[in-house]
Amino acid sequence: MAQIIDGKALALEMKNELKTQIDAWVKLGHRAPTLRCILVGDDPASHTYVNNKIQAAIYVGIDAQTIKRSKDISEEQLLAEIEQLNADANVDGILVQLPVPETINERKICNAVAPEKDVDGFHVSNVGKLCLDMPTLVPATSLAVIQMLKRYNIDTLGRNAVVIGRSKNVAMPIAMMLHTDKRHDSGLGMDATVTICHRYTPKDQLEFYCRHADIIVTATGIPKLIKADMVKPGATIIDVGITKVTDENGKSRLVGDVDFDEVSKIAGALTPVPGGVGPVTVTMLMHNTFQVAQSRVGKSLTA
Ligand code: NAD
Repeated sequence: MAQIIDGKALALEMKNELKTQIDAWVKLGHRAPTLRCILVGDDPASHTYVNNKIQAAIYVGIDAQTIKRSKDISEEQLLAEIEQLNADANVDGILVQLPVPETINERKICNAVAPEKDVDGFHVSNVGKLCLDMPTLVPATSLAVIQMLKRYNIDTLGRNAVVIGRSKNVAMPIAMMLHTDKRHDSGLGMDATVTICHRYTPKDQLEFYCRHADIIVTATGIPKLIKADMVKPGATIIDVGITKVTDENGKSRLVGDVDFDEVSKIAGALTPVPGGVGPVTVTMLMHNTFQVAQSRVGKSLTA
């Protein structure tokens, strides 16, 4: 049976570490790190995600607030809100919960957040730095995947890794760090041989690449995409996907991309959904917020 990579336990451990660091930071006379989350509209999933972020922030000692705006807010108004937070010296991290309504250009919004306050790591200059292996603010989900591999001592050097999905906010930064040279400045490189699969990868090819993979990271949102016969015995599988499904009794629950019950009999290590990547992602967002607070005063407790 696969070792379960327990994201919930890992997140708690990392939050406690962060809380200790933030306490020490505040004892040195610095103000508590601050995070502002802009939440547009009334999508229930977005409300849950932001609420989870606020709860985690409170736990570690970050002063966090949600700024709720109607789904009818114009792009100009939203840009003005972001500009105000950019200019506010009492605000460290800023994030705009995605997706924003279709009337608003998402890329414009991501690029409006000051890059040094961009705790989601979605600003074009932060994405560029990540691609160049420069130290920067890295998207929390991808950072979570890397941390899970590191903390569970999963060997990646020279190993075959398959990333399924190619979204710019989630899968791409994962693939970027997995293949990168560890000796480069970011310190996040994992030195794996990486294959990226996506919706136009033929099914037989997806199966082929997966069967040769030591590490599979899947981020598609397609339940049971990864079946047991696609997995090399002993492989590590990180399931980023989250999909709400309704079972035959009408009860809804969250599932990942992996056929968990069957794959857990073959894999060496596997993340569950829920309780896998999700909680660690939220923790990494807090890590990024503290990173911003430290950069603001040019000091670091975590380096
Ligand atoms: P997205 O819709 O932007 O990307 C989905 C990707 O899946 C695309 O790149 C697409 O090419 C690929 N894909 C679709 N069908 C495929 C197939 N049959 N075979 C191979 N690849 C296929 O979504 P996203 O924002 O990248 O999120 C991906 C998943 O991760 C979603 O389920 C989302 O809810 C979840 N997610 C989880 C966390 C977390 O913290 N755990 C964070 C963000 C997103």
